Amino acid sequence: MTRRPIIGGNWKMNGTLASAKRLVADLRNGLGSHHAADIVVFPPAPFLGVVQGKLAGSSVQVGAQDVHPMASGAYTSGTSAPMVESLGCGFTLVGHSERRAWFGDSDERVAEKLSAALHAGLAPVLCVGETLAERDGGRTFAVVERQLDAVLAAHRVPALAKLVIAYEPVWAIGTGRTATPEQAQEVHAFIRDRVVARLGDLFGAQLRIQYGGSVKPANAAALMACPDIDGALVGGASLDARSFGQIVMAASKRSPASSGGSR
Ligand code: PEP
Repeated sequence: MTRRPIIGGNWKMNGTLASAKRLVADLRNGLGSHHAADIVVFPPAPFLGVVQGKLAGSSVQVGAQDVHPMASGAYTSGTSAPMVESLGCGFTLVGHSERRAWFGDSDERVAEKLSAALHAGLAPVLCVGETLAERDGGRTFAVVERQLDAVLAAHRVPALAKLVIAYEPVWAIGTGRTATPEQAQEVHAFIRDRVVARLGDLFGAQLRIQYGGSVKPANAAALMACPDIDGALVGGASLDARSFGQIVMAASKRSPASSGGSR
């Protein structure tokens, strides 16, 4: 059994429509069509429709960076999960640390957003991870457990079938400071154990857990060689089609022996 790796490219709040179109063209030219990994890009909300249209039929899928907990209503500036789904997008991030830090997304709100995503048929990529102060204070596992439990407690296995988890230590995001493969693997194994305890052996063995935090072509292969690391969520390096393509290649070459389940 092997878990198919998944590589995400989080474009964050970068670019213009013109640069987004250029990046899409570069991805289409550079990535080719056959990979041993799923590839998803997360453009800014205003570009979702255009990017989805241009990548339709390619090997690259498209997701939103966030969705509102409600399906519709008087929530000015919100982007709902059904809106994202209606564009043909299949994924959304939920609980990215920048949402938690800058927009006040609490664990409860993240759980609501994840429910909204599932309800609309989107695959949620749940982002969890500790700050530097939390790591230095020896609270990494407690923080990740709290973030996970807020979501896992509210859902059952069939509903969570499309769930992907991204472990993203906040101190490694956009800082150029990457977790070592050992540090990352330790938390990934903890997450899988926690999911097994809550949702059972089979679900835990099949769950894909990405690592995120300054992933670059130079460190991607070593991270993804770890037994519980099933891909990467890439920020900065995803804005460069060549770098992103090299990370996809690293995932495609990942040894099947290094993964333990299948999804
Ligand atoms: C991210 O945005 O999820 C991320 C991991 O960013 P970066 O790769 O730039 O650290």
